Amino acid sequence: MSRAFNFNAGPAALPLEVLEIAQKELIDFNGTGMSIMEHSHRGKAYDAVHAEAVANIGKLLGVTDDYQVLFLQGGASLQFAQVPLNLLGEGQTADYVNTGAWASKAIKEAQKVGKVNILADTSKEIPTNMPDFDALAYTPGAAYVHVTSNETIAGTQIQKFPNTASPLVCDMSSDILSRAFDLKQFGLIYAGAQKNLGPSGVTLVVIRKDLLERAPTTLPTMLQYRTQAKENSLYNTPPTFGIYILMLVSRWLLAKGGAAGIEKINRAKADKLYAAFDNSGGYYRGSAVKHLRSIMNVTWRLPSEELEEKFIKEATALKMIGLKGHRSVGGCRASIYNAVGMDAIDALTSFMKDFQAKNG
Ligand SMILES: *Cc1c(COP(=O)(O)O)cnc(C)c1O
Repeated sequence: MSRAFNFNAGPAALPLEVLEIAQKELIDFNGTGMSIMEHSHRGKAYDAVHAEAVANIGKLLGVTDDYQVLFLQGGASLQFAQVPLNLLGEGQTADYVNTGAWASKAIKEAQKVGKVNILADTSKEIPTNMPDFDALAYTPGAAYVHVTSNETIAGTQIQKFPNTASPLVCDMSSDILSRAFDLKQFGLIYAGAQKNLGPSGVTLVVIRKDLLERAPTTLPTMLQYRTQAKENSLYNTPPTFGIYILMLVSRWLLAKGGAAGIEKINRAKADKLYAAFDNSGGYYRGSAVKHLRSIMNVTWRLPSEELEEKFIKEATALKMIGLKGHRSVGGCRASIYNAVGMDAIDALTSFMKDFQAKNG
């Protein structure tokens, strides 16, 4: 067996330990004679998995009694709509910050629902950038403020979350549980699982309970947060296998020392990779402004597009997969989520040195 160095942006690398457990348990889960996928979502075997997933995510994120953990479907993209459908009442305004491709998509959906005020737009800036969140003119009485903690394509990341008077809503799809933060600052956070939490098909939502009752009861039942909140995400059949893998990932994260523990590892990985281009005499140039560099999605350019193509091709031949930047921005990108180990960083930085020596 030979595993690739997986730098995919999403779906992305999963911890090998988790895959091995899933493999072992696939055909006979806990001596039940069937796969967890074949169990009823109302039965004892799945119930224990579901409860542990909720409990572990609660521990990892510091969830208190005034918040609720939900496992939904439809990806982060459905949250772009579900957030305003639930929280943006008639005649109200929602504040949005446009920091890039993902924030732009969230804005587009919210505009279909109600009134949106764009506080700042750095989505077209090069090098990629974000505004100073403490200096924005937030709308008094806004229904909520929406931000994107990590722009997966641009490679920028919010370094310090603002303290907003209105509930702060955050798309954390590409950096959830990669670093410690204070949940108390947020009204709602959401993340598609396929970057840092598990496979695609599960969406994590953590909502402050006072926001659960905001949605109009005329909203279709499945779109109301209160529906899944009342039923502990078991109103209908949840994506049971995805939640099972997410539970295994949450166990793995707890063993790493939780968010603070994994953050230490992630910072060491990112520091090493950024140092490789900062020490390249300008051969590799970071795409994001320095103080906003993401520790999850590292973006850079080479001296020409021809060299970028050659770089990606040669890296792929060495089993370093997923280094091509998003088609909308070009260049290179290494997504170094929680499950990407230091061995992958070492392989990449050593290849970068060789490549520069041969093509510099
Ligand atoms: C990947 C990503 C999304 C889209 O997630 P889906 O689950 O595919 O809908 C949204 N926001 C961010 C920041 C992302 O990285």
